[in-house]
Amino acid sequence: MADIQDHYRVVIIGSGPAGLTAALYAARANFAPLVIEGVQPGGQLTITTDVENYPGFPEGIMGPDMMDKFREQAERFGTSYITDEVSSVDLNERPFTIKVGKRSIKADALIIATGATAKLLGLESEKLLMGHGVSACATCDGWFFRGKEIAVMGGGDSACEEANYLTKFATKVTLIHRRGELRASKIMQHRVESNPKVEFLWHHTIEDFVGAPETGLEAVRVKNVQTGEVYDLKVAGVFMAIGHKPNTELFMGVLDTDETGYLITEPGSTRTKIPGVFACGDVQDHIYRQAVTAAGSGCMAAIDVERFLGEAE
Ligand SMILES: Cc1cc2nc3c(=O)[nH]c(=O)nc-3n(C[C@H](O)[C@H](O)[C@H](O)COP(=O)(O)OP(=O)(O)OC[C@H]3O[C@@H](n4cnc5c(N)ncnc54)[C@H](O)[C@@H]3O)c2cc1C
Repeated sequence: MADIQDHYRVVIIGSGPAGLTAALYAARANFAPLVIEGVQPGGQLTITTDVENYPGFPEGIMGPDMMDKFREQAERFGTSYITDEVSSVDLNERPFTIKVGKRSIKADALIIATGATAKLLGLESEKLLMGHGVSACATCDGWFFRGKEIAVMGGGDSACEEANYLTKFATKVTLIHRRGELRASKIMQHRVESNPKVEFLWHHTIEDFVGAPETGLEAVRVKNVQTGEVYDLKVAGVFMAIGHKPNTELFMGVLDTDETGYLITEPGSTRTKIPGVFACGDVQDHIYRQAVTAAGSGCMAAIDVERFLGEAE
């Protein structure tokens, strides 16, 4: 690995599909970029198993293997890596200053690709069965549950949207919600309530996930919060739809965010309000949240950087 320098033309924070695609393009534009990988090198796909919807892998590929390939490809053209977390950034003047551990690194241009984190319950069994029946993405994993009975946990718009979508594959979808009514907008509520394949389990939470990685999820252990009764609901899959949190703490008060904390970029570009600072991937996209869209916007960010540096110098 190349020695880490004090000053880079392009620094990229985050090593998911967006950050590593930005690195590949920036490296091939001869910027020898630095990627600061964070505590999850490879990003969200490293917590899943089969990825079957990324073009170019007709047989599918395991998430961690795919991200290894992304990393290797960017490295081949001269990307350097630091596997640590950025603790603060100073974007008041260019070159920008990025603090990583004890290092202070300057960047002529910065690409933010810190992604988002799917909110989960944090149970050990949930981690163990992620990609083996537990999922956080209906678009990604719905196909695996054709002809099966599944559950969705949540009560907001995304939970309703995912439950509806999943009825295209599943024979039955049980929507588990801790309250007695949905938080979703009226239109989403109406859609899900009038879907004959959706059943509701009101006033319930998930206590545990039952199964093993080798055999998959067998059931979710649910608790009726009103009666205290705990029992197993037999399902082949469960989709956690309790929200996403964009990883934007570093930029709060510095860059513009929407009401849920996602970075705002100029429409049709990856430019933020600070010239020289760009954002790509899930950190600025609460709509699509896919590897291919994250990679696409990573490519856009690198091209935007190239133009910016070309004009600035
Ligand atoms: C369980 C699961 C399964 C999925 N399956 C699929 C699928 O099959 N197909 C599909 O297309 N999509 C899938 N997705 C969605 C996909 O993973 C995301 O859309 C994609 O990873 C977003 O890429 P990203 O590069 O924007 O961010 P992320 O992948 O979220 O990566 C963010 C990166 O930022 C880094 N970071 C964060 N904070 C800091 C910091 N302070 N300093 C340094 N680095 C930092 C992290 O370490 C990480 O490397 C899945 C998601 C999940 C959760």
